[in-house]
Amino acid sequence: MYNMTTFNIQTNVPSRHLSDTTPLIKLFRVSKFYKPENPALFDVSFDIDPGDFLYIAGASGAGKSTLLKLLHLGEQPDTGTIQFNGHDVSSLKPSAISVLRRSMGIIFQDFKLIDDLSVAANIGLSLEVIGVSPAFIHQRVGEVLEEVGLPGIEDEMAGSLSGGEQQRVAIARALAPNPQLILADEPTGSLDTYSANFVLDMLESINERGATVIVATHDRMLMAARPHRTLALENGKLVGFSRKGAFKSRDTKFSNSAEAI
Ligand code: ADP
Repeated sequence: MYNMTTFNIQTNVPSRHLSDTTPLIKLFRVSKFYKPENPALFDVSFDIDPGDFLYIAGASGAGKSTLLKLLHLGEQPDTGTIQFNGHDVSSLKPSAISVLRRSMGIIFQDFKLIDDLSVAANIGLSLEVIGVSPAFIHQRVGEVLEEVGLPGIEDEMAGSLSGGEQQRVAIARALAPNPQLILADEPTGSLDTYSANFVLDMLESINERGATVIVATHDRMLMAARPHRTLALENGKLVGFSRKGAFKSRDTKFSNSAEAI
């Protein structure tokens, strides 16, 4: 039977002694070429520590979604390496990759809920596929709906909810398996300011409770209002970073080296 406590990036990769300084994720010289002449990502290197809250910033087409797809292990880089807790993902067995993926929750700009299924069914799907018992799914759905401030809406059809509510249900779905890493692709892109702030409140609170959170966004106002460590992409290249605040071109140090970041 599925056990919630085993869903942890830190405990589910093959055993090996890891020093305290091992990053949660390490990208080294990663490139992705959908079209040879125009790489979606080119020579990107950086580290993410456990518990980070990180923005991946950049205009449309900069490579943010491609980067999140690689981090979600849905695709492999064409060159370069991605490590989770010191383990090169390309050397992991499919079963270990599956375990790693289950330790991640992902949130999209367009929510990706199934409109004509109930809220409970939408959230439950993420647990059903990993063998969680119906009784536990019922309990967990109630818990995560409480957490996102929407208790008692289990039986509503997802398509009948407002955009802000749908995104909160999508966050509840991402939270259900108790992930250690949350990937969010433009999570506020379809929302009004009130709902966008609520979503950021949720992501910050999830981060404060220990999960690593990575948010791809092109919204400079959001990043200025909620400053966090920021990596900036432009035409697939990592062009800057900010350690402690929102990305601004004038205070950005330009580097493509993992050590510098
Ligand atoms: P962003 O999320 O920053 O808008 P993307 O990662 O979606 O950027 O896209 C980066 C570049 O890669 C764009 O030029 C886009 O057209 C291209 N791209 C992304 N996915 C694919 C794909 N599956 N096939 C071909 N080109 C793609």
